[in-house]
Amino acid sequence: MLNREELKDLSEIQGNENYYVSLYLNVNPLTNPKGEYVLHLKNMIREVSENTEKEVYRKIKSDLEKISAYVTSNKREFRKGLALVSSEEQGFRREYNLSVPVKNTLIVDNTPYIKPLLDIVDNNPRHLILLVEKDEARIFLVHLGEIVEYGEIKTADVPGKHKKGGWFALAEPHYQRHIDYHVGLHLKEVIKKLESFLSAEQIDLIFIGGSEEALTMFKDMLPETVRNRIKGQFAAEMFLKPDEVLKRAEPLLSVYEAEKEKKIVDELITRAMKGNQAALGIEDVIGAAMEGKIHKLVFVKDYEASGFKCVNCGLLSIQNITSCPYCGSEMESIEYLVELVTQRAVEQGATVEVLAYETTSLKERGNIGAILRF
Ligand SMILES: [Zn+2]
Repeated sequence: MLNREELKDLSEIQGNENYYVSLYLNVNPLTNPKGEYVLHLKNMIREVSENTEKEVYRKIKSDLEKISAYVTSNKREFRKGLALVSSEEQGFRREYNLSVPVKNTLIVDNTPYIKPLLDIVDNNPRHLILLVEKDEARIFLVHLGEIVEYGEIKTADVPGKHKKGGWFALAEPHYQRHIDYHVGLHLKEVIKKLESFLSAEQIDLIFIGGSEEALTMFKDMLPETVRNRIKGQFAAEMFLKPDEVLKRAEPLLSVYEAEKEKKIVDELITRAMKGNQAALGIEDVIGAAMEGKIHKLVFVKDYEASGFKCVNCGLLSIQNITSCPYCGSEMESIEYLVELVTQRAVEQGATVEVLAYETTSLKERGNIGAILRF
């Protein structure tokens, strides 16, 4: 998963005499049913080879060859977008398999080209989930509906963990104080790590899970600035798998996602009503996409539509027409119209919002819409 810390490292790289190849490729199996991305990559590589000075080309030739071999080997299982940054010369390579589409781009420069990655992080806020117990803690990040575990804090010398009856069965006051002291040290350690993680990653919303007792103790110790960012807590055991953690936190997260979605849909519909640079419904959205006008594409999750595509120029249409109105070529029927429109929008530099919660008002207006550039 993408994180700011890593992007910061990438952005600080100074190549000097060295060169980096940065590739962004739409590898979505739905819009590339015949592996079309291989051809797109080859075209981009040819273009770069032709337009790069000989001196520079010599330095990146093996990068291009390795990238090409990697992408074309048919054992790859890709998601929607692939990002690769490589410098054979420096033994450097990063790969990101993205659940969002990217615009096909191949750039050779003295530094890695990371703007598309930064945009993905900026446009899709990340949330932090912390599981905390009296001798253990786990940090997770949620981004684009996915959860990744970032780290674990175990404090080995908190006594009493394995004693029968658990923490509070140990009634002897002096022993209890001894435990509290160690638990306190552990929680302080967790807070320290949490604070440094939060400042590096610029995350606003925190959700915490654990036993009621541990969470209460933990919250009491938190500085106010961090406590204010906690937007909910849930019961959880430390052994949960990441997906199970996400499932437990989902009802809390959805409140914030829904809020964000509502703002976007409201803006879209208000603009459409006023005739102010917006399109509603698949037909108008396709029209806008063909004219390169989409600024933000919005559609209801799982919305699907089929249509037609020109085999020559790629024109999309919802109407069953036999020949392309632009170039006269044959139109073929296609199933994944929404995916293709999304890809077209991304190529125009548009952002994409998929609505998972705030779906009713857009469903009533054709499931899809777009805010336009002009
Ligand atoms: Zn055509």
